[in-house]
Amino acid sequence: MREAALAAGRAPDAIELVAVSKFQPREAVLEALAAGQTVFGENRVQEANGKFADLRADHPALRLHLIGAIQTNKAGDAVRIADRIETLDRPRLADAIETAAGRQGRLPSLLVQVNIGEEPQKAGVAPVEADAFIEDCQRRFGAALAGLMAIPPNGLDPAPFFSRLAAMAAAHGLPELSMGMSDDFPLAIRHGATSVRVGSAIFGARPEPTPGSALHMPRNAIA
Ligand SMILES: *Cc1c(COP(=O)(O)O)cnc(C)c1O
Repeated sequence: MREAALAAGRAPDAIELVAVSKFQPREAVLEALAAGQTVFGENRVQEANGKFADLRADHPALRLHLIGAIQTNKAGDAVRIADRIETLDRPRLADAIETAAGRQGRLPSLLVQVNIGEEPQKAGVAPVEADAFIEDCQRRFGAALAGLMAIPPNGLDPAPFFSRLAAMAAAHGLPELSMGMSDDFPLAIRHGATSVRVGSAIFGARPEPTPGSALHMPRNAIA
């Protein structure tokens, strides 16, 4: 990350590392915490809660980002446990987050997820609907709507998708850009990422969840 930032003429500390610990055991999180990592990403609300709930007392700097699709009926739990929700992608979820935040007196930082490759199987607001949705979220949430997040299509050069997302964020005056994973984070940094979500390059391959277990979920599955 440091090399990529310097090569791009950017300050290395302007880019945050989100360590994606989904499917990893709690021990892996403890090891990363001991090494100084404080920001973690989880796909599922329930898994995140189980792993992180009791770590906060001993690790006040710990911050949890939710990076998987969120069912509307899990919005209350998401608002309760997340420091940032990176996957706000539809008006009904915005409604649910707004209601939960009002009830709890707590509003996490929020990113709008954009389906930047227009892939039918992927979460995220469609690019053609993104401007209106982002403006709606800015009206509802003010500066808590901090930026945009996207996962470019597999198997294509991610560069044009990264630059498209960066242009969209700039057009709305949004400072945060969550893009780049294990395979492409240096390129994402070159295109302006302020946050990269890295799992396997930190923790190694994810343990294969056994079929039928609570962890048997596709990437970015509904939480
Ligand atoms: C799993 C996941 C990552 C991390 O992927 P790696 O390739 O292991 O770095 C990043 N972002 C999202 C949304 C994910 O679901």
